[in-house]
Amino acid sequence: MQENIFNYIKNIFSGTSLSSLSIPSIKVTDIIDILIVAILIYVLIHWIRETRAWTLFKGVLIIILINFFGEFFHLYTLTWVIEKTLSVGIIAVIIIFQPELRRALEQIGAGGLSSVTGILQPAVQDGRLTKESLEEIYDACIRMSSERTGALIVLERKVPMGDIVKTSGVAIDGIISSQLIVNIFEDKTPLHDGAVIIRNNKIAAASCILPVTQNEIGQELGTRHRAAVGGSEVSDGYFIVVSEETGKISLARRGTIHKGLSNSEFRKMLFKLIEPPKTPAININRIWRGMNKHE
Ligand code: ATP
Ligand code: MG
Repeated sequence: MQENIFNYIKNIFSGTSLSSLSIPSIKVTDIIDILIVAILIYVLIHWIRETRAWTLFKGVLIIILINFFGEFFHLYTLTWVIEKTLSVGIIAVIIIFQPELRRALEQIGAGGLSSVTGILQPAVQDGRLTKESLEEIYDACIRMSSERTGALIVLERKVPMGDIVKTSGVAIDGIISSQLIVNIFEDKTPLHDGAVIIRNNKIAAASCILPVTQNEIGQELGTRHRAAVGGSEVSDGYFIVVSEETGKISLARRGTIHKGLSNSEFRKMLFKLIEPPKTPAININRIWRGMNKHE
């Protein structure tokens, strides 16, 4: 194995002596070329991190890594399977992310260069949900439940929902308070329709449209509950629903809705969000997870 590596390195340098190595001439257009490609790659990575594609991107990276090891150790069947999967996978990715790709192209078309420069501004990534914020959210839900005010609140976790915020919502970037949340969902006000998204310990946006689930969740539940379940199918966030018809509070997570929670059940589920993890996460894991600062 060691010999392999040495031979490989030897082959790279065979036929070249240090004296024959020359620095190619670099023109101004080359620099511009490199800069444009660098910016495009940066924008692409930024876009991936802002959407659901980030989770998928990590999966693809793992497959590429396995493929690399497979090739290195000459595991032909494994690499064959991975190569076939990747070639089909590219078509699958285009189909799965068709709405996101369409939105991205539309944004570029609509915003021109400003959409690119907008993406280049760093996203705020500083906040975990605090206990105080959860208390405010809890208070707001209990109040809306007793007043039968319909509400849909998303507590974003690792999977970013930036694409949904950007395309359908109204940006708020407000400090979380029970009064503000209740006010947003007050009937007949401009922002009451749709979902509020909480990210980085802030009320990021309101009036956001979530994907509606196509699965069976019960005849009695309408589009608000369907949107909560639909959202939870594509992300790992907490989706809280307060029913306008019954005042009941439900919470959807990972495609499952826990309907009609009592106040104490709801509180328990909600505050699970800030429980410390049972096993301390090692550093490399944190780096890999990247987006979990506001978990
Ligand atoms: P409720 O028990 O409050 O009546 P429901 O599940 O029966 O809820 P609807 O009565 O259809 O649902 O609620 C309609 C409201 O749900 C809309 O006014 C809107 O605010 C919200 N809503 C519907 N679809 C979506 C969606 N895709 N994304 C976000 N919010 C939605
Ligand atoms: Mg209804």
